[in-house]
Amino acid sequence: MSGVEKPQTTRRTFLKGAAAVGAGVAGAQFIPGVGPATGAPRVRTDRSEQRAIVIGSGFGGGVAALRLAQAGVNVLVLERGRRWPTGPNARTFPTAKTMDRRVMWHKSAPNLFGRPFGTDPYVGLFETVVSPTMSAVCAAGVGGGSLVYLGMTLQPKRSVFNAWFPDALDYSTMDRVHYPRVARMLKANVAPDALINSHAYRGAREFAKRARRAGMPVEKLAAPIDWNYAIAENHGRMRRSYTIGDTLFGVNNGGKHSIDATYLRQAEATGRVTVATQHEVTSIARGRDGKWIVNVSRTDKFGRVVGRKVYTTRALILAAGSLNTSKLLVKAKRTGAISNLPDGVGHGWGTNGD
Ligand SMILES: Cc1cc2nc3c(=O)[nH]c(=O)nc-3n(C[C@H](O)[C@H](O)[C@H](O)COP(=O)(O)OP(=O)(O)OC[C@H]3O[C@@H](n4cnc5c(N)ncnc54)[C@H](O)[C@@H]3O)c2cc1C
Repeated sequence: MSGVEKPQTTRRTFLKGAAAVGAGVAGAQFIPGVGPATGAPRVRTDRSEQRAIVIGSGFGGGVAALRLAQAGVNVLVLERGRRWPTGPNARTFPTAKTMDRRVMWHKSAPNLFGRPFGTDPYVGLFETVVSPTMSAVCAAGVGGGSLVYLGMTLQPKRSVFNAWFPDALDYSTMDRVHYPRVARMLKANVAPDALINSHAYRGAREFAKRARRAGMPVEKLAAPIDWNYAIAENHGRMRRSYTIGDTLFGVNNGGKHSIDATYLRQAEATGRVTVATQHEVTSIARGRDGKWIVNVSRTDKFGRVVGRKVYTTRALILAAGSLNTSKLLVKAKRTGAISNLPDGVGHGWGTNGD
């Protein structure tokens, strides 16, 4: 899909639509206990057993799905958001100019970066979570944070790594095997001087000049980007995207080696991985037989629940990001749905600044 998402649903048409969904499925199977809350439309519930389930399709989910598939394991990836296909001159993502409902996840707090941002419900790119004491933002969609992240691909120094990560993780192995492997997968590389010296990057050059003058070291950072796309924009071969800084809402032209275009594409190509989009996990539990139970709301692109699913599996990988993995675990602990969770669940959590 690469057309512009034009029509904006009003709150009234949204409610009418929700009622219509409810009426349309009135005869469908409804299972007490896993069905919708009172007042919500009745929808069908399907059940199935899966070999392995990964919740979330960002960095963690993409890597897990690919490596499991390569080991011969069939994997179902549950992703609450939509796919965001790109390509030269695509208009898939919103831009700073066309900020519309595609920007916001429908369950977000009604502001973005501290400013009110009201749009009609949509399975949009950013979820904002605002509480009295902290605010955070994360992404939604196939590829997760890699769709919106700026792509700064930094390997921490040994001292920083050891200060923050558990002793069980060995920096030397990370340095020798894993960091280079990820850099290769994401094709991380620095922008060529020819691009940086072009008119579009005057601001960046000025910033670097002033930083150097203030005695600060300046170096280029690797990013998972095919810079030929930005060069093509400069030559008028594509509509501008990189070269006008339209990267925070996703890069329409493509050329960004995000998780959907790297790990997940390879994972799906094995034939062992299915990515189920607009499948939001609402809770997880552990059955008496030791199997994991995963409750899912299937939504349309406006976030309306159009079906429910209950999966069981022996292998469950939580990769819903720091915010939403924590949310699922805290809920499971509070309700007793998973009995032996550690006391630390939900503690020591920090926002994007961390
Ligand atoms: C604006 C921004 C810029 C950033 N820039 C950089 C940068 O330049 N360099 C860098 O290294 N890092 C950057 N980051 C951080 C980086 O994006 C995250 O660290 C990374 O995405 C975390 O990966 P993850 O797999 O844990 O989660 P995510 O990538 O967030 O993926 C989680 C996925 O799970 C899905 N999900 C969540 N809840 C559910 C649910 N209940 N059911 C189903 N699916 C669910 C989400 O939709 C999402 O697709 C940036 C982050 C943001 C927000």
